[in-house]
Amino acid sequence: MEYVSTRGSAPTLSFEDVTLAGLASDGGLYVPREWPRLTQDEIADLAGLGYVETCVRICAPFVKGSLTGDELRVLATEAYGSFAHAATVPVVQLDAQHWLMELFHGPTLAFKDVALQLLGRLFETFLANSERQLTIIGATSGDTGSAAIHALAGLERVDVFMMHPKGRISDVQRRQMTTMIAPNIHNLAIEGSFDDAQAHVKRMFGDPAMNRRFDLSAVNSINWARLMAQVVYYFYTAVRLGAPERKVAFSVPTGNFGDVFAGYVAAQMGLPIERLIVATNVNDILHRALSSGDYSVGTVTATAAPSMDIQVSSNFERLLFDMCGRDGPGLAAMMAGFEKEKRLSISDNMQAAATLFTSARIDPDEMSLALRWAQAEAGELIDPHTAIGLAAARQSDLPPHVPIVTLATAHPSKFRDAVERASGARPRLPNRLGGLMDREERCETIHGGYEAFADYVSAHARVRA
Ligand SMILES: *Cc1c(COP(=O)(O)O)cnc(C)c1O
Repeated sequence: MEYVSTRGSAPTLSFEDVTLAGLASDGGLYVPREWPRLTQDEIADLAGLGYVETCVRICAPFVKGSLTGDELRVLATEAYGSFAHAATVPVVQLDAQHWLMELFHGPTLAFKDVALQLLGRLFETFLANSERQLTIIGATSGDTGSAAIHALAGLERVDVFMMHPKGRISDVQRRQMTTMIAPNIHNLAIEGSFDDAQAHVKRMFGDPAMNRRFDLSAVNSINWARLMAQVVYYFYTAVRLGAPERKVAFSVPTGNFGDVFAGYVAAQMGLPIERLIVATNVNDILHRALSSGDYSVGTVTATAAPSMDIQVSSNFERLLFDMCGRDGPGLAAMMAGFEKEKRLSISDNMQAAATLFTSARIDPDEMSLALRWAQAEAGELIDPHTAIGLAAARQSDLPPHVPIVTLATAHPSKFRDAVERASGARPRLPNRLGGLMDREERCETIHGGYEAFADYVSAHARVRA
């Protein structure tokens, strides 16, 4: 498969190169040249397959030319062997219409592990055959950072510089990053929001001096291979609930638009999806964009669901690319306007290409209510992000015969203070995390803006002679 940039002027890349690349050189994001299609029979044949085998079938067209099915199977077997549930991604029924897809059984208790456990192994495989030394720069609202660090700690050919907004992530999230002590891992706390950190990442990708010295790469959800890995669980779960004969809807707690975009990809590949519900918290740029065409940046409000406290959703550009008929130069002009004006209006024409989506903005009271409903009605303790998805699912106007699967994106213990505030119950950390709260932490605070960050990276990144 060949990959093209959403802004139309960067070179096309293979799967291997797109996995190791960050942003495209024209500032865009890479997407497959076309969406591969599965026939309804091929989808029906997924019934009864385990998670690894489903992964091999779904990802095969995307990795073609870079990995064989057998090579992919080995990597997926290792990646999903690190999960604490035999089904990898189990589905739990809440009531007659509502289900939870539990994506949090990986090593850091959030759905990001599903993609990053595979990505770490893809990096190792592709770098083993090359002379490259990668400098990974990333910004995290909490969960990406911990999942990336767990996936990449100790790799020889990779240095990781992971920024998080100081004081705005949970203690469990922070400790999952700062207690992984390895020579290639650098945790950086910055004074500002997630969007400020993300802006540093974008700026470094466009900084010629840094690009001359370092082979910069990314593991946030602008990385195509991550999205690919997330497409798998939409198929896996839908087939278990009766697809392709029966259409399923998904409600997705959304921040950077990666997870729900993977659902869109599944639909483009032929999975019959009734609807994708984009659930946001009060940081509702995506809700405004999808409901009224107003994609304009507001200020970020810190909430109990910090992984969704985002205003600029990078992956939305991938949807915009399809919405404007895959017109790269046209989108490049739109995005240049957006970067200047901090707003973009989406025409009715463009919106017509996104009818699969609806959206909802969930406030803190609605979040708490959904969390308590799951606890009282179904005996499930859920985390605040999942509760936002569930609230949006329960507000939807879908008829009762359409199953709605809410993506349970984090284990409740990862956000136990917020869960306790909403429900009165304090979720226990799983035993496999034993000792997390007692281990030594390592983290640098970056005082200052982009220059301070760039200085730190320059002083600490390894280069190959
Ligand atoms: C990252 C994250 C989200 C948002 O996912 P996106 O792909 O950024 O939309 C939601 N919930 C949790 C727990 C997360 O870690």
